Amino acid sequence: MLHYSRTCGTFTGMKANGTDVRPWLAALVIGVTGIAFGACDRRGADDEQVAAVEVAASWRSIAEGVRGDRIRRDAEMLADDAMAGREAGTEGFDLAASFVAERFAALGLAPLSDGSYLQEVELFWTRLLPESARITLQAGDTEIDLTIREDFVRSGGFGPGEERVDAEVVFAGHGIAAPEYEHDDFAGIDPAGVILVVLSGAPPHFETDLRAYYSSSTVKQTEAASRGALGLLVVRTPVDQRRRPWDRYLPGVGRTDMEWVDSGGVPFGGYPELAGSAVLSQGAAERLFELAGRDLSELFVHHGAGETGSFPLGVSAVLERSSDQGRTVSANVVGILAGDDPRLRDEYVVYTAHLDHLGTLDDGDDQIHNGFYDNAVGVATLLEVARAMTKLPVPPRRSILFVALTAEEKGLLGSSFFAQNPPVPIERIVANLNIDMPFLGFPIGDVEAFGVEHSTLRSSVEKAAHAAGIVLSPDSMPERVRFVRSDQFSFVQRGIPALNLKPGSISTDDSFDGPAMLADFLDNHYHRSSDAGDQPFSESGAERFARTALLTGLWVASDKDRPSWNEGDFFGEKFATGRVAPVSAP
Ligand SMILES: [Zn+2]
Repeated sequence: MLHYSRTCGTFTGMKANGTDVRPWLAALVIGVTGIAFGACDRRGADDEQVAAVEVAASWRSIAEGVRGDRIRRDAEMLADDAMAGREAGTEGFDLAASFVAERFAALGLAPLSDGSYLQEVELFWTRLLPESARITLQAGDTEIDLTIREDFVRSGGFGPGEERVDAEVVFAGHGIAAPEYEHDDFAGIDPAGVILVVLSGAPPHFETDLRAYYSSSTVKQTEAASRGALGLLVVRTPVDQRRRPWDRYLPGVGRTDMEWVDSGGVPFGGYPELAGSAVLSQGAAERLFELAGRDLSELFVHHGAGETGSFPLGVSAVLERSSDQGRTVSANVVGILAGDDPRLRDEYVVYTAHLDHLGTLDDGDDQIHNGFYDNAVGVATLLEVARAMTKLPVPPRRSILFVALTAEEKGLLGSSFFAQNPPVPIERIVANLNIDMPFLGFPIGDVEAFGVEHSTLRSSVEKAAHAAGIVLSPDSMPERVRFVRSDQFSFVQRGIPALNLKPGSISTDDSFDGPAMLADFLDNHYHRSSDAGDQPFSESGAERFARTALLTGLWVASDKDRPSWNEGDFFGEKFATGRVAPVSAP
């Protein structure tokens, strides 16, 4: 078990050395002396410095006002059975959205230009009729019928309601073309008009976030569709089989999937051209490669070592399915805090937390998936940050958008819609700070911030964590590739520096085993009906986390320079090219 302890030595040291205290540094010192009373001995605070920095004193005061019991109450409210799991497009979600909109109004946040707090999102939904789903593999005279749930899972389609694809099957490694690594799984094959079989994940020598990026199903689908493929059959690597056992896929069969609809009425994403797609179980994958006369375990080893090598399997496949389809409307909830600086108030820092969850699913017991940590606690934290900021005597220099997003669980749809249809010019959004599933079962001693290594946002979150009396730790589970798995990624794809703030696993109280509690949550409660209001919750942990989120945003919103991607950064190069030059205050 990790043990956490720290002193205020760093901060008193700064003063003793007579360091030239710049405003943020003074704010840091004051922040710590004022806020981190739980972790440090308060005697000997420097009154001269407290008097010297007005802004910092107000930050200290609002940060001290952050309350864990309020976060708990709001989270319990959002995770109540009355909200029925807040699935996008349901009454339960709309109820939750009204709750947040009313709170924004009560806090005095401004609505959107049409006077509403709701940014409506039209959604196209599709639901597989499981009994209609069939896959037949054929080589020579041999035919193999695969069975849904036992052998494969797939979702409803965004094309016609009835679909049938009959095509050759071609193995394409991980399905990745990454020029950075001179890795091309499409070398030597023609993906056009065929069904590609690809391994999940990405080569192990890819740097963590690039591996995450190239592992994502969206990137693989985009790649396959742009090359004219008709489908993707995903074979899970041994690593992924261990990480997510097959039975964890089954509750999702027959669930509703969605895409947002653009102004032309077309679902954005959804890849209707890839109608021959499914995820194969281990057994089905073995039968497919056996039919092709290939050794799958050998391919796992070869491609698991980062090698390439793609080839036709000499097998054809027929995939059929019927889908129920329709349209519905959901909404992102948006509240605006206008900035104070006439030169910078047209720039925006966007806080996000997804409001939706899974709704009702049958996973064996209770059907309502309340989503307490995922992400009622995240929204409750966002509300507490918003409440604190409205208490500032002078708002931050830049404006702040607080956004409770819809349809994250359907594939980051609310954030994708928001980032593609922003209520303010996209180049005026300087940063996204996202909060998704902050596990706060114990008094936290650290936070993590996915994406921190890519942009200048690092300095803001580092200062904020220290001021909140905790530390910034590196991503403890890089293999979970979380930087591209939540809403911040929709902003990254528009070139906006972004972070996903997450509590770490260090407990400041020895009677809680932080890493074990976090592992228990992820293994046994994540995306299950037991992620509900009776989960352990530490109010002091929630306060430290919310203060970190609050102060991070304050620093970003008040800095004279807007955040920027690090020189030569992969995501900056890929997505931020062509963004307007940073506007800086004098
Ligand atoms: Zn989730």
